[in-house]
Amino acid sequence: MPDDEPDVPIVCEACETTAEIPLSDLADQLDSHNERMHDGEAIAEVDPDVADQLADLIADELGLLDD
Ligand SMILES: [Zn+2]
Repeated sequence: MPDDEPDVPIVCEACETTAEIPLSDLADQLDSHNERMHDGEAIAEVDPDVADQLADLIADELGLLDD
């Protein structure tokens, strides 16, 4: 496994904030932000501009494109 994992940009419109989160921390960081700041509402999310690209990248990493 390569250890140069990609950073994923996230945006939170409510907080007007952006951040770059290592892929392996992404779910935890989004969850904890939304939990702490927004009562568990899924407001912070992966930047839509890269979401499609990211899906491809994750699928590629996991070898899911063979299906
Ligand atoms: Zn927020």
